[in-house]
Amino acid sequence: MAPTRTETTPTIHKVTVEILDSCKGCGLCLLTCSAKALVAAPSRPPKILTQNCTGCLDCVDVCPAGSISFYYEAPKEKEPRGKGCLQ
Ligand code: SF4
Ligand code: SF4
Repeated sequence: MAPTRTETTPTIHKVTVEILDSCKGCGLCLLTCSAKALVAAPSRPPKILTQNCTGCLDCVDVCPAGSISFYYEAPKEKEPRGKGCLQ
């Protein structure tokens, strides 16, 4: 099963990052990430340091295997405060 990580970053409310097992280990994403948010993981797809990720998606564009996907989750609506009566 593909590794999936769900993390919170300072610049994006919530992002789920998938680096699929189709990763060929070419290292292009590591070289492309100017935020140093990707690190090599021996015998595995790269590990993402979400606290560094700016969400630029350069790694998605450069991956020749199409192995990186990002899913953004919209911030939740704030709950109304207290209880009210509309009558
Ligand atoms: S989205 Fe940008 S900052 Fe985040 S891991 Fe990919 S290349 Fe790095
Ligand atoms: S660019 Fe794609 S195939 Fe290459 S190491 Fe990164 S995730 Fe794997």
